[in-house]
Amino acid sequence: MSKNKTKAIALISGGLDSLLAAKVIEAQGVEIQGVVFVTQFASRDTEGFIQRVKESSRDADIDIKVEDMSEEFLEVLARPEHGYGSQVNPCIDCKILMLRKAKKMMEKENADFVITGEVLGERPMSQRKEALQIIKKRSHLEGYLLRPLSAKLMEITVPEEKGLIDREKLYSISGRSRQPQFKLAKEYGLKRFFAPGGGCLLTDPRFAGRLKDLMERKEVTAENIAFLKYGRHFRLKDGTKVIVGRDEKENDVLCSLKKNNDIILRLPEKNGPDVILKGINSDENIKKAAEMVISHSSSKNSELEIVEYWRDETEKKEISVSSMAREEIEKMRV
Ligand code: SF4
Repeated sequence: MSKNKTKAIALISGGLDSLLAAKVIEAQGVEIQGVVFVTQFASRDTEGFIQRVKESSRDADIDIKVEDMSEEFLEVLARPEHGYGSQVNPCIDCKILMLRKAKKMMEKENADFVITGEVLGERPMSQRKEALQIIKKRSHLEGYLLRPLSAKLMEITVPEEKGLIDREKLYSISGRSRQPQFKLAKEYGLKRFFAPGGGCLLTDPRFAGRLKDLMERKEVTAENIAFLKYGRHFRLKDGTKVIVGRDEKENDVLCSLKKNNDIILRLPEKNGPDVILKGINSDENIKKAAEMVISHSSSKNSELEIVEYWRDETEKKEISVSSMAREEIEKMRV
């Protein structure tokens, strides 16, 4: 198929660097097709995240597609060839997966190359020189992966060699200071982008701790991951999980995620949290979970109180318990 305009696939994250990289190449007369790759770990509110990326792309006048790679990402997460970052973030393997998908898109859309906003030395794990080399090689994009913000510090690419891109108009930014990018953002009129430095949920120590707990117990499923984003999480002695909603919104989400065997517990007047019991529905576990309802409610009474619980809402039952000691609760915290 013949075409007369050079075209590039641009990986967009909603952050400044990726938008800037796309604008730098667009300024050379290249058609840009943006793409954001999303996983279940993108944000606590994935829909909101996608919306924000779309808005910042729209403001930058970049057309963007959304690609969900959640399923394939779970395999990468379980066995990352290049290990994890400071938490459970397999950034190098994640980037390789994104770029392999971008390569397919490049071929399908008859584009000439792929661009990213990667900056040499900006991030400890995935933007070291060796890591950038590995990512390029393992994504099979050698010669076709252009990183406009650091391009002059890297090997020349095919589009530069062919004269599709003027190397002189690319940049040689490196390191963690973001001043050069902020300066360029003004030049390219970029106003709306995510705050720098944000990774996905896998870089958040609290979330990572909960995920490690699932990994150790070999309980990593899409369903269990969905719960990790909400509430406070605890493990009872036999490994049964108790999840306590922190506010009304979380209570609603947790109840909507409830599966058949899960039990919901709450105070009859609903003036406390909704609690989900996931695992073994023994009398002892139900009692512990009910005590946690009281402990996380406003009453925190040492006297007996009634807690309602059910697996099926048409068969509600009640149990009388008092609150649990704070130290005991904290010992079970995940
Ligand atoms: S921070 Fe998360 S989304 Fe970003 S590269 Fe690392 S694993 Fe992938």
